[in-house]
Amino acid sequence: MIIDIPEQSDFSIHNLPFGIFSSQGRAPRAGIAVGEHILDLAALAELDVFAFNTAVLEKDTLNDFIALGKEITTKVRTDVQQWLQDNNSVLAGNPQLFVTQKEARMHLPVSIGDYTDFYSSMEHATNVGKMFRDPENALLPNWKHIPVGYHGRASSIVVSGTPFHRPKGQTLPNGADQPVFGPSQRLDFELEMGFITGKANPLGSSIDTDHAEEHIFGMVLLNDWSARDIQKWEYVPLGPFLAKNFVSHISPWIVTLEALEPFRTQGPEQDPEVLPYLRYQGARNYDIALEVGIAPDGAAETTVCRSNFKFMYWNMAQQLAHHSVNGCNVQIGDLYGSGTISGKEADSYGSMLELAWMGTKPLTMADGSQRKFIADGDTVTLRGFAQKEGKRVGFGEASAKVLPAQP
Ligand code: MN
Repeated sequence: MIIDIPEQSDFSIHNLPFGIFSSQGRAPRAGIAVGEHILDLAALAELDVFAFNTAVLEKDTLNDFIALGKEITTKVRTDVQQWLQDNNSVLAGNPQLFVTQKEARMHLPVSIGDYTDFYSSMEHATNVGKMFRDPENALLPNWKHIPVGYHGRASSIVVSGTPFHRPKGQTLPNGADQPVFGPSQRLDFELEMGFITGKANPLGSSIDTDHAEEHIFGMVLLNDWSARDIQKWEYVPLGPFLAKNFVSHISPWIVTLEALEPFRTQGPEQDPEVLPYLRYQGARNYDIALEVGIAPDGAAETTVCRSNFKFMYWNMAQQLAHHSVNGCNVQIGDLYGSGTISGKEADSYGSMLELAWMGTKPLTMADGSQRKFIADGDTVTLRGFAQKEGKRVGFGEASAKVLPAQP
């Protein structure tokens, strides 16, 4: 191996995700995470090893690289995989090709044109339905027929590590008949994963479930921050608005679908049977362990949730088929969120709303403090990895610190 990769690294030889990084003397550019290092693809291109226009590797987003198509992006990944294991390859004797992740700064990996957020975890939709509507009929009648979603906002999606201020907005306090304005009192995280599209379809055409994966470049962790008190007051009748668009964080490395191939698994059985355009062949879920930690300001982190992407009722192929069935076009670099990923167990719920059950069951942190929602100074970190037969493919983290509301 050209570079030492620690045993439990998320960025093993089986992963090799793409991202955009900068460091002293290197403007933002494309790289591949390898253990604790980054392989500088723009610098590697200077050694004339690639047979495509490598100017795309010097851009500050991956969009133009992804636009070359999987034929090329997959070859870059598999070539690098071989070269890393060959002590006589082009990667040998060229230390300038590698930067340590510690000395690099990560950027948003793609310019995101459109962002859609689904609502595809049955456990999450059921929990929210129980709390906000009817404990007996928690799932709305459409839920098992449609991968429900809404169009979110792309401009406020930022990369892991970007701090933000608690949002302010309008809420209706319990028992009040007039709304008030101020900082959200119920700031929450949402444990999600997102996929990034790598191939467009023309406006007016549709993508079927058999071809959906050709349109998916890869996946990231996504924290779809939510202000529950603002949400509760504003969401009727058109759905989420300012409670969701103040900020969302994604992990910096895009893990390709190819790297996730060994971790395919069957999803939950869908009953009743879905309409023909949503039917699919084969195993379309992925076994990806997920967790969320909360670290109060200056204190140790407490893991508050352990979930798994495989719990998703609707898979990504169905989401994309549904999204385009009316002729809506997807574009390169769009982000599609899974929706909050909750499991069946109370410690697998993917939001504070569910974990602390609307504030009725506060969580105790390692430092003794209690949480119903997220406090100022808290750092919330999402992590995810797939592991099987000695292969580990991880996502790193999507982490962010909450600062007090601006005056
Ligand atoms: Mn969401």
